[in-house]
Amino acid sequence: MPIRVLVWNEGRDERNIPEARVLYPNGLHEAIAAPLRKSVDFTVATATFESQPDHGCTAEVLDATDVVIWWGHKLQREVADVVVDRLQQRVLDGMGLIVLHSAHFSRIFKRLMGTSCSLKWRVTENEREILWVTRPGHPIVAGIDDHFILDHEEMYGEFFDVPEPVETLMISSFSGGEVFRSLCTWQRGMGKVVYFRPGHETFASYHDANVLRVIENAVRWAAPTVDSKRANFGKKTKDWLDAAGS
Ligand code: ZN
Repeated sequence: MPIRVLVWNEGRDERNIPEARVLYPNGLHEAIAAPLRKSVDFTVATATFESQPDHGCTAEVLDATDVVIWWGHKLQREVADVVVDRLQQRVLDGMGLIVLHSAHFSRIFKRLMGTSCSLKWRVTENEREILWVTRPGHPIVAGIDDHFILDHEEMYGEFFDVPEPVETLMISSFSGGEVFRSLCTWQRGMGKVVYFRPGHETFASYHDANVLRVIENAVRWAAPTVDSKRANFGKKTKDWLDAAGS
């Protein structure tokens, strides 16, 4: 069974910011979704803030989703309560969630973390980010060398106000000397949660092969397993088990 992925993106910056429009003419969500669509291991849907109803995150959609990838920025506070509640419940039931870049301030991530999720930041044209692998051998960093470099990114610096991650898989250093826990995992209920830092809308990070590989690896890792499905009870679980042929 393919992993059913929903790539959710606010979808506003690519229309309003010229540099973002040039880099991501079809939206950040399409830049992230397109490489996943090349694999038979995934079925990929997309939604944006303006998708109707419920920003494209209805119960029906999420019931048919194994992993959500979430990118948000200026509209995060306007995401509807019903959507945040639904996402939270689905993660607790076992759905995977990959939170990207400025979505550290998304309502769903803050809800799941229970902390402010604040950090330091700076945007300049010449900020170089080096992402260092701190857990070699982990499936989310499979195929990644001991580090990779993004020549242009926004700086995010510690302190990143999140609960201590279960795993810290990459740490970034920046031109200004700051460091940041860039790739972290948590578990909430039966669901796996991943935060991955790169992805400022005016830089080309979602065209970088290493960034896309980490995202694909994270989707595979965060997808519900038969065991996590079996630990739940109710109709949804039964459907999942039926679908998994077990
Ligand atoms: Zn940014």
